[in-house]
Amino acid sequence: MSDTSGKETFSFQTEVGQLLEIVAGSLYSNREVFLRELVSNASDACDKLRYAALTDAALAPSGDLAVTLKIDDTAKTLSISDNGIGMNHADLLDTLGTIAKSGTGAFIEALKSEEKDAPGLIGQFGVGFYSAFMVAETVDVVTRKAGDSEAWLWSSDGKGAFSIAPTDRDVSGTTVTLHLKDDAKEFAEEARIRHIIKTYSEHISFPVKLGDETLNAAEALWTRPAKDITQEQYTEFYRHSAHAFDAPWQVMHNKVEGTLNHTSLLFIPTTQPFDLFDAERKSHVKLYVNRVFISETGTDLIPAYLRFLRGVVDSQDLSLNVSREMLQSDPNLARIKTQVSKKVLSELKKKAGKAPDDYAVFWTNFGAVLKEGLVEDPALRDRLLEICRFASTGEAALTSLADYVDRMKPGQDSLYYLSGDDAAKLAQSPHLEGFRAKGVEVLLLSDHVDEFWLQHISEFDGKPLKSITRGAADLDAITAEDTPTDTEQSDDTDLSALITVIKAELGEAVKDVRPSKRLTDSPVCLVADDGDMDVNLERLLKRHGQLQNGMPRVLELNPSHAVIAKLAEHASGAGDDLLPDAAHLLLDQARIVEGETPTDPAAYARRLARVMERAL
Ligand code: ADP
Repeated sequence: MSDTSGKETFSFQTEVGQLLEIVAGSLYSNREVFLRELVSNASDACDKLRYAALTDAALAPSGDLAVTLKIDDTAKTLSISDNGIGMNHADLLDTLGTIAKSGTGAFIEALKSEEKDAPGLIGQFGVGFYSAFMVAETVDVVTRKAGDSEAWLWSSDGKGAFSIAPTDRDVSGTTVTLHLKDDAKEFAEEARIRHIIKTYSEHISFPVKLGDETLNAAEALWTRPAKDITQEQYTEFYRHSAHAFDAPWQVMHNKVEGTLNHTSLLFIPTTQPFDLFDAERKSHVKLYVNRVFISETGTDLIPAYLRFLRGVVDSQDLSLNVSREMLQSDPNLARIKTQVSKKVLSELKKKAGKAPDDYAVFWTNFGAVLKEGLVEDPALRDRLLEICRFASTGEAALTSLADYVDRMKPGQDSLYYLSGDDAAKLAQSPHLEGFRAKGVEVLLLSDHVDEFWLQHISEFDGKPLKSITRGAADLDAITAEDTPTDTEQSDDTDLSALITVIKAELGEAVKDVRPSKRLTDSPVCLVADDGDMDVNLERLLKRHGQLQNGMPRVLELNPSHAVIAKLAEHASGAGDDLLPDAAHLLLDQARIVEGETPTDPAAYARRLARVMERAL
């Protein structure tokens, strides 16, 4: 819609509307963080203009880049201005009316159910600008993009719609004016604003001014010696540069001097960022060349498997006067990437050794991401494997592969694992029974990425990594700790007649039928043959449409199970009509335990009813 003055009205994208309702209605103690969000945006805009001006002199900023605050005590407004990059009509539509972030729906659901933690969630999600509506009744944005002559007034009361109209602005940049709500008039007080800036924005690189006064140190934090920086200052800087609300789990501040100088100030968040599992796998570390911001989202600086990192890398040994694209092919950038990656991995290794419980927090959040590196970064694979942790049947806590090896039983020559979707279900799997009985530990791998790195890494410390659902369970050679002696005897049940009957009945549906070494309590399980595809991998590929039909698998029978022993008696006797039903039921049962469905549910139900009837 557009009127004669050229003012157009637009509806917010549905998700933004919902979000604003929640943001505007949520009452919580530190809503002052809206100012940090807006100052961060202003500072980012200055960063972007400084970079743009490097390659296009016409874009040179008007005077020194700065963020300027203005308070109108009578009108009860607060404005945040910058002389940065500014926005054109399309930018306004794209950025201040929509949320181009995946996971928005889930985020809104989470917010609805947890209004009390709105700031935390808002921060993780990064709805920075919209936080203005926590304190403002209406928000006006006057903006002019560097290089453009037109300026625009964006305006909204946050209630479903916003307008954009042509306006005037002398220089490029943006002014966000907040018409404060009745209960937010405190943000029109100088002392309050001064305090908020000191608290939250002391160390952004640009001056934040109120009248003639500069409120902050305005010095890039990472350029100062680490010993002069407090934990609070790091946290404040992290929140600014990452638009985050949590505290960093780890701060890594390093200066590397030599042939290739660079400084990095990197943070690992305490909570998972919302876009962690986005298909784009964007990195969020900012690249600076000699304190000039260059770019944020490339993987040229930080590998995708370290995309949970936040912060900055600054180097004077990269060329400033080249395009982003040319910079990406600068071999020095690749070298910095390797050095930074190694440094991060070695810091993680230290932490894993010194504070395993704390490391577990990191691992739970980011382990699945880090493991992508096992596939993608062969050069650092060994270092990565060292800091990987796994759930296991032997340990309550997570274990490293090295510690697993230390606990291996006499005669055990492989590392065993079981992989699947669901950690809790894995722990219940019948495949584990024989291993449990012998006290042999099995790693439980439940991240999707596990199947993929297992394709690339087949051994550790010279010992093979073996899936316990594939091949024969070579448990005989392993010295048992606490195997009850009587199971040894009942293992002797002769299953050959039963196996012949079951094979004949199931035909192509199974690859083979064999007595099992791995079961103690369950009657049956399905396994893949050595050399065949692992059961879990097959399942994954099928789900992703990369595989049509799975291979028939091997049905293993537990000779010590009462049902199997009874059936064996039937089979070696005259044989009877129970056996065909039993054969199919055993196979279906094994499928169900794997989380699959019987191939023919109606037949399954019929057989089950028949067998029950007989038993009664
Ligand atoms: P984020 O900063 O996390 O991207 P915001 O909601 O705070 O999310 O801002 C959305 C986008 O709006 C920014 O990425 C930027 O493109 C644009 N924007 C916001 N404030 C400004 C500003 N002061 N100058 C230029 N662009 C801005």
